[in-house]
Amino acid sequence: MTSCLFCKIIAGDIPAEKLYEDDRVLAFKDINALAPEHFLVIPKEHISTPNDADNAELMGELSLTATKIAKERGIAESGYRLVMNCNADGGQVVFHIHLHCLGGRKLTSPIG
Ligand code: AMP
Ligand code: ZN
Repeated sequence: MTSCLFCKIIAGDIPAEKLYEDDRVLAFKDINALAPEHFLVIPKEHISTPNDADNAELMGELSLTATKIAKERGIAESGYRLVMNCNADGGQVVFHIHLHCLGGRKLTSPIG
């Protein structure tokens, strides 16, 4: 989707600090990190909100990719949080689904 910020990152039109990429998913550092480790994992297919997701394999891949990167970056044992926001009450700001991974410090509030 041409107007979508994260589709622009996927297309390479907006820079991002990429951590992992394959033909289905992309992971990159969050530009406004709320923890020492804060990255996002997104599907390359544009899906606006979690309500629009119907591909279980793809949704699982987002989670497994986040965990793999968390292990690589050394926060798996200390722990981390995976969060996917949905719509206004969930605090979703970018309408291309993304799994947040936050870690590297003790998370206290629900989102960190
Ligand atoms: P959400 O509130 O769940 O929609 O989260 C959107 C996230 O995208 C926020 O944590 C932002 O800091 C992050 N974000 C917005 N623009 C960029 C960008 N250009 N590169 C990396 N992360 C971004
Ligand atoms: Zn998009």
